[in-house]
Amino acid sequence: MQKNHQFIPINEPCFKGNEKKYLNECIDTGWVSSTGSFVSKFEKEMANICGRKFATSTSSGTAALDIIFNSLDLKSDDEIITSNFSIISCSNSIMRNGGKVVLVDVCEKTFNMTFEGIRDKYSKKTKAILIPHIYGLPVDLDPILEFAKDKNLFVIEDAAEMHGQEYKGSPCGSFGDVSIFSYYANKLITTGEGGMILTNDESLHQKYSSLKNHSFVEGRRFVHDDIGFNYRMTNIQAALGLAQLEQLKNMVKRKREIGIYYHSLLKDVKGLSLPLNKTSYSDNIYWAYTLTIKKEIPLSGGELSEELKKYDIDSRPSFWPLNLQPIYLKNKYFDESLVYPISKQLADKCIYIPSYVSLSNDKIQYISETIKGIFSKYE
Ligand SMILES: *Cc1c(COP(=O)(O)O)cnc(C)c1O
Repeated sequence: MQKNHQFIPINEPCFKGNEKKYLNECIDTGWVSSTGSFVSKFEKEMANICGRKFATSTSSGTAALDIIFNSLDLKSDDEIITSNFSIISCSNSIMRNGGKVVLVDVCEKTFNMTFEGIRDKYSKKTKAILIPHIYGLPVDLDPILEFAKDKNLFVIEDAAEMHGQEYKGSPCGSFGDVSIFSYYANKLITTGEGGMILTNDESLHQKYSSLKNHSFVEGRRFVHDDIGFNYRMTNIQAALGLAQLEQLKNMVKRKREIGIYYHSLLKDVKGLSLPLNKTSYSDNIYWAYTLTIKKEIPLSGGELSEELKKYDIDSRPSFWPLNLQPIYLKNKYFDESLVYPISKQLADKCIYIPSYVSLSNDKIQYISETIKGIFSKYE
């Protein structure tokens, strides 16, 4: 294999639209804090795209989750069911705000939590379900939403990785009582750091908007009626976000092309499982393009990453299971008799490779050839 000689990073944000123009406007007008017209424009546009009545921006996706769980007034035995294969923001935000995290394992093919998994963990103490969609396909929501309705559970949709994705033709970000997005630099559209909370419930929206801004009372400055946060998004971030949103459709289109191209080049590699191109409810958006090494192949995800690095190709490991996080093990947070074999196997055997929208087809070919070369010794 020939070396590429130009390091291919895992991600590169794509700023090819009005980003500079809108950012200059912030600087020229002096509106750089969270008071500025781009913030409300960005919120309105997100609400439009997701078919939600209300949107409030935040300083990150984690901040959005924090605000939501804070406003639920959780008691220590209130249980929140969520996925074991997700970012630590999910469990931390529940714990920080007084609830008990109950984890479910995921489906090996979709990386997502399932209705069956949730039903098995349901108890009289269950108050809410936090549903993160992982990597590119949404969770199969209908049976879960029906169950939640029947049991009167609050549903939080974590659509951080799902910008522009749909479930059965409706936008991700439109499901459950409330949805969140993240605009971290590795997300499909970015504000550097940032987040959003969307809902159709006006009183929840008011609560979230107030909590993110120190819960000021109306009418008199510096008087507060709750213990709030400063989790505000700045006008600069929103300017970037608005320009990015204008390109969302093109970005989604390119992401799908990249995923399908990788699939066509790698589908005959016997030692690998590739992401599903589609399910009955969605076409994959490939936020992250994953390679899952088959169990019988004596190669770990970490070793594959090391091999790829020799050819100047960056990659990342998949999530580390939440139940095995050192901080939670130390605190004996989770019952050690509960095991989550699929998340553990994915942690050991799954990585993701570059799939950012400006990645050229030449580079995709180079990356795929390199992977085929590495796996040829296992054929
Ligand atoms: C990125 C991400 C978050 C957290 O968002 P930040 O903006 O990084 O705080 C939450 N949930 C999921 C599923 C994510 O991928």
